[in-house]
Amino acid sequence: MNLNTIVEVKRPKSTDAIGQWRDGYAWLAGGTWLFSEPQVAVDTLIDLDTLGWPSLTATQAGLEIAATCRVADLHAFKGPAEWRSAPLFRDCIDAFLMSFKIWNAATIGGNVCMSLPAGAMISLTAALEGVCTLWPRDGAPREVPVTAFVTGNHKNVLQKGELLRSIHLPAAALSKRYAMRQMSLTRYGRSAVLIIGTAGDRGKDFLLTITASTPRPVQLRFDKTPSAAALRHAIDEHLPAGGYFADVHGSAPYKRHLTYHFAEQIRAELA
Ligand SMILES: Cc1cc2nc3c(=O)[nH]c(=O)nc-3n(C[C@H](O)[C@H](O)[C@H](O)COP(=O)(O)OP(=O)(O)OC[C@H]3O[C@@H](n4cnc5c(N)ncnc54)[C@H](O)[C@@H]3O)c2cc1C
Repeated sequence: MNLNTIVEVKRPKSTDAIGQWRDGYAWLAGGTWLFSEPQVAVDTLIDLDTLGWPSLTATQAGLEIAATCRVADLHAFKGPAEWRSAPLFRDCIDAFLMSFKIWNAATIGGNVCMSLPAGAMISLTAALEGVCTLWPRDGAPREVPVTAFVTGNHKNVLQKGELLRSIHLPAAALSKRYAMRQMSLTRYGRSAVLIIGTAGDRGKDFLLTITASTPRPVQLRFDKTPSAAALRHAIDEHLPAGGYFADVHGSAPYKRHLTYHFAEQIRAELA
């Protein structure tokens, strides 16, 4: 859609070129959400593309995903063989309801900053223990785990003008085994539930990340793969019946039922 309130699009080479942040400014990533509805409070878009950040940087420490990395680029990425969780990139991306246009334009950072329950890049990066690097407008960069970045439906910790620069996935998390389950009420609908489990060898460091059925990621960590009863108990402890996210993509009782069902499947698969 044409955004008829926009009077300027800035294309900076560095974030220093932007100067003082003011109301009416908005970061522009892929634009798939920004251009999908009126933005009456926005008069200036600041395009992140011209900052020229390398999309994906793999090192021994893990994978650095620039906020501007396109979903399509992450889908094409192939990690080293020891990163046993790398196929999860594709599994999560395939769970993300996308047209051709969104597929080629949407960015990982844009998806995380949208902070929607069905944000599949949130599910992915939370499950792989991602840590966000944030650039406040005034002040030193700060690091926040993805699980703490999203605080609710379309809510996160970003301050005015603050930029998500990148997300780091540690090699230790990428090296774990994983199991994933996802369900939508309709074939091409948004996820009603997307749950990912990861575990090290011999079931050590079992981590369950519940997303889509909840307004923000809920993560349960165990030293080793728990029993079915212990897992169910932990879900109830961290996720009371009132803590599920109800919308047109599924009622809270439906999402709660699927959460128990898939969590147990994942536990059994990784055990
Ligand atoms: C038909 C349709 C279906 C969709 N389905 C889904 C879905 O299933 N799940 C889902 O999660 N989303 C969905 N979306 C919403 C959106 O398209 C995606 O979340 C997408 O990943 C957003 O990425 P983008 O790069 O296009 O972000 P943009 O549209 O460019 O930006 C989104 C928001 O994030 C801010 N932002 C972007 N990058 C940064 C950054 N690095 N730092 C700080 N702020 C930033 C922008 O200012 C803006 O407020 C859908 C949209 C449409 C139109």
